[in-house]
Amino acid sequence: MLIGAHVSTAGGASKAIARAEEIGAECMQVFASSPRAWKVPPIPDAEAEKFRAESERAGMGPTVVHGKYLCAIGSPDPELVEKSVVALTAELQSAKQLGALGVIFHPASHRGQGFEAALPQFTDAMRRVLDAVPGDTLLMLETSAGSGDHIGSKFSELGQIIKSLNSPRVAVCLDTQHAWAAGHDIADSDGLEAALKKFDSEIGLGLLRAVHANDSKRELGSAVDRHDNIGEGLIGTAGFRNIMAHKAFADVPFYLEVPGFDKTGPDKPNVDALKKIRAEVKA
Ligand SMILES: [Zn+2]
Ligand SMILES: [Zn+2]
Repeated sequence: MLIGAHVSTAGGASKAIARAEEIGAECMQVFASSPRAWKVPPIPDAEAEKFRAESERAGMGPTVVHGKYLCAIGSPDPELVEKSVVALTAELQSAKQLGALGVIFHPASHRGQGFEAALPQFTDAMRRVLDAVPGDTLLMLETSAGSGDHIGSKFSELGQIIKSLNSPRVAVCLDTQHAWAAGHDIADSDGLEAALKKFDSEIGLGLLRAVHANDSKRELGSAVDRHDNIGEGLIGTAGFRNIMAHKAFADVPFYLEVPGFDKTGPDKPNVDALKKIRAEVKA
């Protein structure tokens, strides 16, 4: 189980590796471009090459790219869906250039039309993105906290998308805070077992390829997406010990997306907290 974090690519993608090393991350997540703007400027080939060489030197990886928060391929607004497909395609292309495992993206909201109604367009959009970027870079659906009309707080919804798409290039990222907010008591051993059993029957544990490791500011079942530092939230250190001891996560990389103890984002104390728990559960 590798422990990593989301890091900034300010100044160029290859700058991220030193930042990840500085906080002790073993793998990292980056944005391919600003998550709050539609544009995805292409990564110059030389920069991508530098990124891959730096990653190799540092022994850093697997890298994942996090998609934009703006994308909503389940929306009833066709213009929004098209913009989302264009952006997601560019992000998948960037991920491929960087040698990343894939792009983790939020299924986002169906905006009132209902999951069943959104499903065909959702899988069609994913298929178009995958077809536009040949290779083996993955599209990774992230589990959601379940607020409003958001798709993906139920494992069954992600399972339905995956079944209807039927592509070897799809996987899932489980966010611990989102799972907690969606009502899975993963801090408790029976609760975790039940959640993973459900995940396995609806999706398949083989498709669990990444974890967003975040503690929770909000209570179990709140449906609210609010990350906290490891040990400071309601999942807590004991909860993460329970999660990290489970064999389902043994080969899955963990990526922190926490506020940071100094509010500067994922930091060394959070990485160290997870490493300490990993060492404890291994012993
Ligand atoms: Zn996310
Ligand atoms: Zn979140």
